[in-house]
Amino acid sequence: MKVLVCNVGSTSLKFKLFDMPGDKVLADGKVERVGRTDAIFHYGNRETGYTIQLENQSILSYAEGIRRYLNCLTDPEHGVIPQVSEIERVGFKTVLAKGFYGIHELTAEVLQAMEDYLIVAPAHNGPYLEAIRQIQQVLPGVKLVGVFETAFHTTIPQARRIYGIPYEWYEEYGIQRMGYHGASHGYIADVLTEQSGGTGNAISCHLGGSGSLCAIQNGVSVDNSFGFSLQTGLIHANRIGDTDAYIIPYLLAQGKSVEEITKGMDKQGGLLGISGVSNDLRDIQIAAEGGNERAQLAIDAYCAGIIHYVGAYYAELGGLDHLVFTGGIGENSSLVREKVCGAVTHFGIVLDAQKNAQRSAQARIISAEASKVKVWVIPANEELGIARRTYEYR
Ligand code: AMP
Repeated sequence: MKVLVCNVGSTSLKFKLFDMPGDKVLADGKVERVGRTDAIFHYGNRETGYTIQLENQSILSYAEGIRRYLNCLTDPEHGVIPQVSEIERVGFKTVLAKGFYGIHELTAEVLQAMEDYLIVAPAHNGPYLEAIRQIQQVLPGVKLVGVFETAFHTTIPQARRIYGIPYEWYEEYGIQRMGYHGASHGYIADVLTEQSGGTGNAISCHLGGSGSLCAIQNGVSVDNSFGFSLQTGLIHANRIGDTDAYIIPYLLAQGKSVEEITKGMDKQGGLLGISGVSNDLRDIQIAAEGGNERAQLAIDAYCAGIIHYVGAYYAELGGLDHLVFTGGIGENSSLVREKVCGAVTHFGIVLDAQKNAQRSAQARIISAEASKVKVWVIPANEELGIARRTYEYR
């Protein structure tokens, strides 16, 4: 079965066409700056190695972006399928829909439920709704499947989901801890199972532009550092992470508007807010090495958040077999891995400094032989997780 995986950003579209089962990627594609006349279009045929990148393209809608990609897929010379009708399913890395937390066909009812939570996940649900509606028109009759970022976390026990709020808020509005980054943490569980025969007790640290930790027990999620919205948990690149709800009424009373507060929490907080330098850890590390104290504070606060959740999940899991780093920061920042692992040596974690410093695109173990806990770096592959779940969906 040909499964197209579609990852939608606020101004970007990323595609991968898989041949399932077998996890084989046939072609990938990317459109950047959707909605502009200087869009960038990329297509790659994974079978032949042919790639093309076109700049200054007029790609004014998601529909136009996907049409271009479909034309490349069916191109007689560089395509990988004879006709578009070969595509049986499209899988989306959707985020949140009220009342639909698993893997669902994207019916009108599910799209309405995404609309209902637009205010909780505006940066994600808005672009996805627009793109899904347009793709429905470009690929009529194809089954569209939403692999919601909450899906891997539906196994988290209720006692860890419920907030200490009036129970009616939970019943009426669905306010509870949701958990996100499900495609990434689910893929980590798959890799540990393939490579170690099971996950046992594992902590997966997805550290990127947004970050979360997931406690995994025997293949399923039992906790995740995200709460109701994606503004929670760890400090993110621009988003605030865990904070005190009473900061909001206090700031309102000081005369700040709701718009100013949400902008502060979504765009001006996180690593950028603390460091005042950048939302990119690479820039912050360079500034800290140059003596910038706020940059150093941002790194220390970021790592403190990770250490906090590693400790919490160690207690919840009752021990630890695997600690995994993934995502742009998790895969690339040996400094963050060193600081986190160095703080929890009493859990039996011993890092191999040389292995930690090495770079590789493959999943690898970076702990010393003597370490009781295996420490891994596993490159994120959310698209493969989405392709597998979309293919399996019944
Ligand atoms: P992601 O959202 O998973 O693509 O991660 C993107 C983030 O990874 C960037 O914003 C950087 O902060 C971080 N990153 C990428 N490469 C490095 C590196 N070599 N060292 C530190 N951080 C990195």
